[in-house]
Amino acid sequence: MLAGIEAGGTRMVCAVAEHPAHIRERIEIPTTTPEETFGHIRDFLKAQRSVRAIGVAAFGPVDIDKRSKTYGQVLNTPKPGWTGASWFKAFSGFTVPFKIESDVSGACLGEYAHGAGRHQKTLAYVTVGTGIGAGIVNDGRVRNGTGHYEMGHIPVRRDPDDTYGGHCPFHADCLEGLACGPAIQARWGEPLSHLGEGAVALEASYLSQLALTIILAHMPGRIIVGGGVMKTPGLIEALREQTQDRLAGYVRRGALSGDLSDYIVPPGLGEAAGVTGALLLAQQAAREAVER
Ligand code: ZN
Repeated sequence: MLAGIEAGGTRMVCAVAEHPAHIRERIEIPTTTPEETFGHIRDFLKAQRSVRAIGVAAFGPVDIDKRSKTYGQVLNTPKPGWTGASWFKAFSGFTVPFKIESDVSGACLGEYAHGAGRHQKTLAYVTVGTGIGAGIVNDGRVRNGTGHYEMGHIPVRRDPDDTYGGHCPFHADCLEGLACGPAIQARWGEPLSHLGEGAVALEASYLSQLALTIILAHMPGRIIVGGGVMKTPGLIEALREQTQDRLAGYVRRGALSGDLSDYIVPPGLGEAAGVTGALLLAQQAAREAVER
């Protein structure tokens, strides 16, 4: 049995499956302290028969470098109590293969294998919610550098009429600082779905700069956009339009030559993308252990 954990800042989804696309059993628990949360997940996994590998798609930042002494550890996070908590150590008692990636990389992997990213060589997944993140999967593998990508923090050109200072504690008005859910709430006092076309257009103008960056840097076959903010009516359409404007005819091939309606798309797996990706990470960990 494979075990997958989608570790979000507010809730955890744990699932077991013989095959990542067919979840046999799953639970959802609130994210509280690391000790309590890890304990609940271990209890769930111990009640399953023969867990043979564990995959985690975790909120970040998290150390995903296997050679690192702090592999599997949550890095500097504003989430109270979680800095230094180790996913790797939490499950070392199971003595099974283990693999961890960022939550958005996990969701990207899930969509690549079983969702809206099937048949793509390279896939990008962007999430816009409490934070902004993006993951890339190429030929079935999550792409990383020395750590997972941090594309939510790219600098963006500000709208000259936007006087909001920005929400990011590190960069103030980076993309996440201007366009994540809490930034929208701080600028307008309401969620985007309660605001008009102008607010949606401003949000799309920021997000389209990330879409453009991803296209120019990674040339994915498709970009999947998920997260709570992306559910705002009209936002995905505005994002396609502004991304096409920013491309300015420079890249015209395949799905990039049209109106992007088949290029920038919502997740095919909906809320299940992350946990499916975590199960795929478990599967990869099991295979890599055999190859070694
Ligand atoms: Zn930032």
